[in-house]
Amino acid sequence: MWASGTVQSTSGEESIVSLSNGNVIKVCTSQLLPANPGILEGVNDLIQLSYLNEPSVLHNLKRRYSHDMIYSKAGPVLIAVNPFKDVQIYGKDFVTSYREKATDSPHVFAMADNAYNEMMNDGLNQSIIISGESGAGKTETAKFAMQYLASLGGGYGGKECKILRTHCILEAFGNAKTSRNDNSSRFGKLIDIHFTASGKISGANIQTCKHVQLAAGERSYHIFYQLCAGASPALRERLNLKMANEYNYLVQSDCLVINGVDDGQKFQKLKEAFDIVQICKEEQEQVFAMLAAVLWLGNISFQVIDKENHVEALADEALTSAATLIGCAPHELMQAISTYRIQVGKDRIAKKLTLQQAIGTRDALAKFIYASLFDWLVEQINKSLEAGKKHIGRSISILDIYGFESLKKNSFEQFCINYANERLQQHFNRHLLKLEQEEYDLEGIDWSKVVFEDNQECLDLFEKKPLGILSLLDEESNAPNSTDFTLANKLKQHLNSNSYFKGDRGRAFGVLHFAGEVHYDTNGFLDKNRDPLSSEVVQLLSSCDSQLPQLFAKKMFNQPLQSVTSLDTTMQSVALQFKGQLFKLMHQLESTRPHFICCIKPNSKQLPGTYEEDLVLQQLRCCGIFEVIRISRSGYPTRMTHQAFSERYGFLLSEPIVSQDSLSISVALLKQFNVLPQMYQIGYTKLFLRTGQISALEDRRKQVL
Ligand code: ADP
Ligand code: MG
Repeated sequence: MWASGTVQSTSGEESIVSLSNGNVIKVCTSQLLPANPGILEGVNDLIQLSYLNEPSVLHNLKRRYSHDMIYSKAGPVLIAVNPFKDVQIYGKDFVTSYREKATDSPHVFAMADNAYNEMMNDGLNQSIIISGESGAGKTETAKFAMQYLASLGGGYGGKECKILRTHCILEAFGNAKTSRNDNSSRFGKLIDIHFTASGKISGANIQTCKHVQLAAGERSYHIFYQLCAGASPALRERLNLKMANEYNYLVQSDCLVINGVDDGQKFQKLKEAFDIVQICKEEQEQVFAMLAAVLWLGNISFQVIDKENHVEALADEALTSAATLIGCAPHELMQAISTYRIQVGKDRIAKKLTLQQAIGTRDALAKFIYASLFDWLVEQINKSLEAGKKHIGRSISILDIYGFESLKKNSFEQFCINYANERLQQHFNRHLLKLEQEEYDLEGIDWSKVVFEDNQECLDLFEKKPLGILSLLDEESNAPNSTDFTLANKLKQHLNSNSYFKGDRGRAFGVLHFAGEVHYDTNGFLDKNRDPLSSEVVQLLSSCDSQLPQLFAKKMFNQPLQSVTSLDTTMQSVALQFKGQLFKLMHQLESTRPHFICCIKPNSKQLPGTYEEDLVLQQLRCCGIFEVIRISRSGYPTRMTHQAFSERYGFLLSEPIVSQDSLSISVALLKQFNVLPQMYQIGYTKLFLRTGQISALEDRRKQVL
């Protein structure tokens, strides 16, 4: 991609460059990018670089990474490059040293410390927003931030410890192994840690944002394998539980074990965690029963009973077991997943489903039970963390959410994820802008000369009613005879004039996201958005003997019925639900002072010591790091106090000046080096310089010394 070297000679459009490896090459002069002076090698903060071009940023991060310095700053943003090995920088000694400000090297502890101090000093709620692609280290980083806050907010044991122990439950139910991460969180979460006025942890609250998929061609949620591997013989018997390889939902990926992970042992840990958050033994038994029910549901098969391809569920072990576990009669379950009712005059008539519809109904039921179970667990955890107290003090919220994704083939999931990230990016941009503005105001700098970009127009493309992608998607999801093709056509018909929209051929369309152009294939969009949960099924659950299914059904009935699809389903579309959850999260973040961490995955093999430049570059772009840099560049990235400036370069003055104060020396230096007036501004305490201005002084300094 890039190589560093020294220009030997330039003649017109061509330059001769000697590379650091000894080779001498001829290149096009316009393709050369300036490198930074030696003193800037491996700087803590990328913004300190005189030249903020892509190769300089990459080079700097790589250099740091090779010395196990996995953290760097880009202005207010912390960059964390996943080491894929244990780095000894999280021990108690590190906590102490960041607490006592004995070091200023970038670290997640430093950021958490900063948030804690601002909360204590200014009385403002804080948030730590962690983004990055799958496997980049978001969840681990969130845990380290929490570990630090826990150690500040009251030592070990008690509430702080409880918060850390809940990870085990959330990860079992919310994480799965994927090709990109052995322990990938399939949900976004916001954890609010509450503090008392004296800065002690008083409790916590967790919110999640997710879309459940039981078998998406990859390994399913850890909990299923843990249960199958770790259940005692007695529990097995009660649940009629088989081994993982006998369940359809689990064998689709043919990955039943993960290297180095003992699922049975994890199951014991999970039960301990349940005890800690006060989920009693009877409730635990019900949770396991729901899981076993989900597994058995996936094994239910159907037989065709007429020429129109209508089906009926087979009355076999799978049907009986699933029915028993949720607490209904087998024929009731059979009825609920093989038929739907339509209103004919005053009567409701049962109609048979086709094979595809029946499978859809069965899977929707399984997903609904699982998603409801997850929500119920989060609710129990929250109750136990809050212990009935109303929170009145301050809080720090930690957001761990899937980052922007641009894959070879992008579907509905990427569409939702990228929409969420577009929202987060706006939050980020606006905050950054505010920070800059504050600093300029403080220094009495003219602010009007700085231009910023915003992504409001791209968000409008998604959210505008009635002509935004989300509205059009819902409209099409509810229309009779709609297909993924008609959806694509509808989008193109209404949105082609929008400059952030690209109509592609066939089923595809593109969106110009802040992080780059992404092309989506609408294949499956409508089905995934409808997620048909039939009212039959909800009715069935509400009439079950067991407590949890009843509870799940009741929650469902209490929800506003937003859309009614052709299958007589009563559920909000998935996209709308997702938007609702996202807005709730954003609303909460709105009232906090944010701190941003951008996690980077240095290679796709999950290996230590391997840094793939193109991969890193792509993520830096997606994280908006160059956006930060662009914002800084449109302003004055180099900031030095008058004193630091005059001390560093004062000896370069060719003529002595009368007053020896640092401001006068600085002004004289600027004049001597012909720095143009539009290239700098003089603040009350600091000098603000545009990109690259410092290097002439640096070069001269090196020559003289
Ligand atoms: P994400 O949540 O972004 O998908 P994770 O936080 O699950 O990614 O990290 C993936 C894996 O990378 C972890 O299981 C761990 O092995 C490794 N990892 C991430 N961050 C660190 C770190 N700071 N130190 C050591 N290993 C890490
Ligand atoms: Mg994660």
